[in-house]
Amino acid sequence: MEVLLGKTLEELQTVALSVGLQKFAGKQLAEWLYVRRVMSFDEMTNISLKGREALKAHYAVGRHAPVREAVSVDGTRKYLFTVGEQFIESVYIPEEDRATLCVSTQAGCKMGCKFCMTGTLGFHGHLPASEILNQIFYFDDLTNIVYMGEGEPMDNIDNVLRSLEIMTAPYGCAWSPKRITVSTVGIPAMKRFLDESECHLAVSMHNPFPAERALIMPAEKLMSITDVVSLIKQYDWTHQRRVSFEYICWSSGSTPGNTINNVSIRHAKELLRLLKGLNCRVNLIRFHAGVDRQFPSSDEKAMEFFRDYLTNNGLTTTIRKSRGEDILAACGMLVNALNNNQ
Ligand code: SF4
Repeated sequence: MEVLLGKTLEELQTVALSVGLQKFAGKQLAEWLYVRRVMSFDEMTNISLKGREALKAHYAVGRHAPVREAVSVDGTRKYLFTVGEQFIESVYIPEEDRATLCVSTQAGCKMGCKFCMTGTLGFHGHLPASEILNQIFYFDDLTNIVYMGEGEPMDNIDNVLRSLEIMTAPYGCAWSPKRITVSTVGIPAMKRFLDESECHLAVSMHNPFPAERALIMPAEKLMSITDVVSLIKQYDWTHQRRVSFEYICWSSGSTPGNTINNVSIRHAKELLRLLKGLNCRVNLIRFHAGVDRQFPSSDEKAMEFFRDYLTNNGLTTTIRKSRGEDILAACGMLVNALNNNQ
């Protein structure tokens, strides 16, 4: 059955007309769906009983609760939602003055990053905008949303842009785009995001040298990190919109030709060269080695040295706090654990 969640105001007006309601009922539907966030047609009390029955006969609201929840000792919570035959996950991160939700945009992912659990699960489908919004609407105290869960958001750009429109439009949730960050490994479709949205951007960099990056991130072949940065430099980041670069730190392995180590002076100098003139921030991320140990855990001292070197040379760099490690909060890990237990 066709789902109403994720439809724009114009589409909801068409839906209203299609079931014999007046066009203005489209605005009422938007309010019930996006402002009051009801779960059923029965709650839409300003729509006539006959209208509600007609809606029920042809459409579904599209809301559903998660099937599993895991709580970390640090308060981070991970939720599994079912989408068709697949599980997708969201991570809720409460902090003193804010609550952030990390949402998934695809079931699995095509990008195949070598260090990522989701990458190893393969691709199982794009999430429609309704399933992106359903993750968000389960929570009523969010202050920020990051599109950094399973999947490459720019690979599902139509549905991602649609969900962003509904989150930020006056007829929708009317959120400021400054409260939403969308991540990417950097693929050509990101140009549409840059042109059609005002939300923040986070680029998964992890290595500034294209040849080394390609060894851990096959998407480098779709669009080189040098082209990604050149494109980003064409946009204005000096006002409210922000761009950041995510950088997982792998420091061990000093053998010549080692391609895992990405926190050397050589990498720092290249990062400074590549990002020169761009108003941005670099977020260094700790990595915890998985069972296969192909990638080593981060070395705290090397990370701090790398951060200080970049900061002292004018590039704002921070070490990001890790949250929810005990509930496998890194992307795709809970889904993987669940699949392994079945
Ligand atoms: Fe996909 Fe992100 Fe994992 Fe890369 S890190 S495989 S883009 S989910």
